[in-house]
Amino acid sequence: MSAPEMRVGTGYDVHQLVAGGPLVLGGVAIPAERGLLGHSDADVALHAIMDALLGAVALGDIGQHFPPSDPAYRGIDSRRLLAHVRDLLAREGWRIVNIDCTIVAERPKIAPHTAAMRAAIGETLGLATDRIGIKATTNERIGFIGREEGIAAIAVALLARESVVGSP
Ligand code: MG
Repeated sequence: MSAPEMRVGTGYDVHQLVAGGPLVLGGVAIPAERGLLGHSDADVALHAIMDALLGAVALGDIGQHFPPSDPAYRGIDSRRLLAHVRDLLAREGWRIVNIDCTIVAERPKIAPHTAAMRAAIGETLGLATDRIGIKATTNERIGFIGREEGIAAIAVALLARESVVGSP
């Protein structure tokens, strides 16, 4: 039996911070005075992760799968979109090896919430939490993130698919 085919993908997302909540990151609602603006729940972490997963297998991006012009996605819980991406990958025989995501935010403190985020993502994807890394950093008060105008997330995902014996 040959080694599985491996694929890596990256994702990036930004959403604007506005007055009022909720602030949803990594599938978790975090108490905060300001939340992210977007057509869906604006969960930048899940959006970056979905783009990494889709990118790894060249299945486009979340803008194509869930167009902002479609009212069906208004205010939608991004975990539902992540479940759809999970099903797309499974249908083509891909399994997720691991995900790593960095959230770039000046405030609030993200670290107290990363365990809950890993649990939420793991539950949605059916993936062990030791395969899901969530980290956070500030932007050292520089630029739009430093001015607390927005939050960004960067993600990478590794996928594997067992090669079929006898296929090229
Ligand atoms: Mg987004």
